[in-house]
Amino acid sequence: MKKLAVFCVAALVVCLFVFGKAHPINEHQKEEVLENVKAKKQVVKKVPLKEIPKNEKIVFLTFDDGPSQYTEQLIKVLKENDIKATFFMQGVNLQNKSLQPSVKKASDQGNYIGSHSMTHDYRKLYVEGKFIQEMKQTQQLIKSITGKHHQLVRAPYGSAPGLKDQTVRNQLANEKIKLWDWNIDSEDWHRDATPERILSTIKKETIQNTEVVLMHEKPNTVKAMPSIIEYYKSQGYKFAVYGQYKHFEMNFMGDPKL
Ligand SMILES: [Zn+2]
Repeated sequence: MKKLAVFCVAALVVCLFVFGKAHPINEHQKEEVLENVKAKKQVVKKVPLKEIPKNEKIVFLTFDDGPSQYTEQLIKVLKENDIKATFFMQGVNLQNKSLQPSVKKASDQGNYIGSHSMTHDYRKLYVEGKFIQEMKQTQQLIKSITGKHHQLVRAPYGSAPGLKDQTVRNQLANEKIKLWDWNIDSEDWHRDATPERILSTIKKETIQNTEVVLMHEKPNTVKAMPSIIEYYKSQGYKFAVYGQYKHFEMNFMGDPKL
């Protein structure tokens, strides 16, 4: 018993000597660590969100189906114009390691990266009921790439008719997932979509103070971007990104929970 006690004390002394010596933290270093923690806290401190001003013209540009080979070009033109946009990215594309640096860059530039499901498969999402599971998986992927958890998703093909089932929408609300459709379809997905046609569709559809424009990561959309930006500027619109203002309802189901 006595031997054991002596051994314990000896071990404690050795430990104090080794670890105490190896990592001495002096007052100066302690200050440095605290400053560092404080700086990090300031970075993650949330900016208070404002209500969207009803009397101001505000446009949200949104891009679906990325990341893609066009992500870099899109974020370049956004940055050149000092504009931020909202992206809805698809899991299978996010898993492509060669595209992940563009996603991180887009996020670091202040663009919002929302989820657009893993598969984009109508049957899997709405018939087999994998919608929430796929959105959560996509959110996790986005978090692993950007370090940010983002609540907003966009339903592939829009929320109607896929999410007509109230129970799924209730589950979404329970999971604190928000959903946005759009109020302007640029029709850039159309077979005949030229940059000119995309712009003229947008011009025709722009009638409200708050507009959410659906676009995709496509070559003709990239080409149309400078003229789209110019158009909205000429009409007195400000460009906004999701999360800059408080969330507002923008879904085809008219569900206030989403
Ligand atoms: Zn899509």
